[in-house]
Amino acid sequence: MDTAAGITGWLSGHSLEEPEEREPGSSMSSVTSYSSSGHWPRLGMDMCEEHEEKLKLYCEDDQLPICLVCGMSRDHKTHNVIPITEAFENYKDKLSIALQRVELQTEEATLFQGQTNEKILLIKERAGDLEEMVTAEFGRLREFLLEEEERIKGKLQMQKEEKLNQLEDALTDTTEQISQMESIADELRLKLTEEENPEQLKGIKDFIGGAESLFERPPEVGVDLQSGDFLGPLQYRIWRKMSSILQPAVTAVTLDPYTAYPCLWVSPCRTSVQVGKIQPNLPNNPERFTLYNIVLGDEAFSSGRHYWEVEVGSKTAWGLGVATASVNRKEEISLCPEDGFWTLVMRDNSDGTSEYEACTDSEDSLIYPSKPPSRVGVYLDHGCGDVGFYDAENMSHLFTFYNAKFKEPVFPYFNPWPIINGRNREPLTIVTPHWG
Ligand SMILES: [Zn+2]
Ligand SMILES: [Zn+2]
Repeated sequence: MDTAAGITGWLSGHSLEEPEEREPGSSMSSVTSYSSSGHWPRLGMDMCEEHEEKLKLYCEDDQLPICLVCGMSRDHKTHNVIPITEAFENYKDKLSIALQRVELQTEEATLFQGQTNEKILLIKERAGDLEEMVTAEFGRLREFLLEEEERIKGKLQMQKEEKLNQLEDALTDTTEQISQMESIADELRLKLTEEENPEQLKGIKDFIGGAESLFERPPEVGVDLQSGDFLGPLQYRIWRKMSSILQPAVTAVTLDPYTAYPCLWVSPCRTSVQVGKIQPNLPNNPERFTLYNIVLGDEAFSSGRHYWEVEVGSKTAWGLGVATASVNRKEEISLCPEDGFWTLVMRDNSDGTSEYEACTDSEDSLIYPSKPPSRVGVYLDHGCGDVGFYDAENMSHLFTFYNAKFKEPVFPYFNPWPIINGRNREPLTIVTPHWG
């Protein structure tokens, strides 16, 4: 009650004090209505109410038009008072400058509004595209599962029908035999009921003999269905089989020893690399890295999607990713996209903590995995220019470089990092599960 009443009271009181001749909308009204000063010139008139003189001056301190007499009064003695014409000039200039500023800002805001609307559309479009791709990937898996389900159910159906056919045959056969035996039984009964006469005994032995062991059992049909063929560890069997349709499947990447830094020892099966003593008499061939502990995969990818996994175990430093075919292998480089490398690096800080850094061209690209991955999955989509990293144990996403515009083939990149204070000797090992 109080607040509302208070406002109403103030409004009514205020309006009582306003001069009746007020002209709302006149150029002076906005100034006058905000002033708390008691003595107003009559609004809309150019005469001073108090002195009945023309309002020829303007007091800048009070923001009021005044007359010459007012201008000499004690009230305005110390104020900045200027001719009213000058005030009009001044404020017209200032008003137009203010207007220009507002117009400029409005233009900027409108531009921003347009850009924001475009972004909204773009986000929706991209999310839509991604959703479609996700749907397609799941669709393929579902399709595979449905096909497998149908295949196994079909197999079960065939086994069932085979058994049922055999049993059907046995039933038909048996029914036939029963009716035969019934007619034999009828004949036997007839013989029994006949009056005894010597005629009966003619060939009686053969007749009785013919009625012995008449029933020929049809072959036995077992009721067991080979459930092991259909069930067993069904989900695991199907899940394993599913690996055959994975796109991308886990690629069996191997290392190219001809690219290896002379301290790197590549295992005979070319799936593992570790730092050791420098190997003498190695040719300084163009493919070889001679400054950094780098070895590349021996197959370059120039299209499509690829995924491989590398065991990093408890190494305290490593680098993984991809490098373009034309990277500089002899001189100092940044190992960043600008030099043809898209890599993730793990380094041990001196305080025992580890640091994971995506080597982007910008500074802040540290990442914080919830736990240190002991196996890392590297994903390459050459067409889209995506290079992603995953914790290959739980397949959680670590980092992805997007939109690298690959203009040439890229190689898998491996950097087992130097041995530091006797640590980090473990190898980097490419791991390819064989599920098929
Ligand atoms: Zn006056
Ligand atoms: Zn004044």
